[in-house]
Amino acid sequence: MTAQIIDGKALAAQIRSEVSGRTAALKARGVAPALSIILVGEDPASQVYTRHKVNDSAETGLAATLERYPADMTEVALLARIRELNEDPAVHGILVQLPLPKHLDSQKVIETISPAKDVDGFHVASAGALMVGRPGFWPCTPHGCMKMLESIGYDLRGKNAVVIGRSNIVGKPMAMMLLAKNATVTICHSGTKDLGSFTRNADVVVAAVGKRNILTADMVKPGAVVIDVGMNTNDEGKLCGDVDFAGVSKVAGWITPVPGGVGPMTRAMLLANTLEAAERSSPAH
Ligand code: NAP
Repeated sequence: MTAQIIDGKALAAQIRSEVSGRTAALKARGVAPALSIILVGEDPASQVYTRHKVNDSAETGLAATLERYPADMTEVALLARIRELNEDPAVHGILVQLPLPKHLDSQKVIETISPAKDVDGFHVASAGALMVGRPGFWPCTPHGCMKMLESIGYDLRGKNAVVIGRSNIVGKPMAMMLLAKNATVTICHSGTKDLGSFTRNADVVVAAVGKRNILTADMVKPGAVVIDVGMNTNDEGKLCGDVDFAGVSKVAGWITPVPGGVGPMTRAMLLANTLEAAERSSPAH
């Protein structure tokens, strides 16, 4: 079998186009969706990510402002700035780029963001809302993975889904989203014994670990859907995922590539969440 590719780049372009249309409609009602991004320090990867977020926003008509602060910014000053943005009705989404310098308590910082503006979906209230099935913002990466499953018309009801990784930003919310769609979900982690015994039974595998080749062809059920969240570098220094793509694509039914899979979807879902925050702040009726 040769797996069909789930093209995250193409799907993300479609989502951006929908966001553009809805943004234009909202602007016509006098609401200009706006995202405030806070970057503390000089982390090179964070600088690239925040630049992407600003450019992606501009391309879809959202207003994104990047506020840059020195690495020695105090926690008091950062929390005060977030509280100001919480109160500003012209700001709909607030995002603090992680990781933060070590002297800043990331959890405390994230929990200072108003849940109504938590477009990253990292606030404990957002996590709780997802857990109990209430409206709230879903973290962009697992949300993007769900959109990919939706795009192939995949019905999760009664399917076995295995999520490898249990981080608060990817693995755990991913498991909750799959559960909400009536999959039978197993979460694997570094303490899991014999990972393959779980993945071989899975109709859907989501790999979110950060280790190359954690999932190989012998660990995959023929025809399964394989979603690769991992971001690693190979021996040539090129971006690659957690999945042995060459081998697994001969066994799986569907597979997401790296690059061009989950990454573009994560970026697109941030735009969708920001627009959603603006729409919720100003209901049509
Ligand atoms: P993380 O916080 O480091 O979590 C990694 C998870 O993998 C942990 O739960 C860990 O288990 C588990 N793990 C480690 N070794 C394992 C093993 N041998 N077998 C099974 N599970 C194992 O990472 P993350 O933030 O969730 O990100 C995961 C990967 O996705 C990274 O490569 C990251 O760069 C990538 N990522 C990509 C995007 C995107 O847009 N494409 C977005 C976010 C993240 P324990 O909990 O037991 O330690």
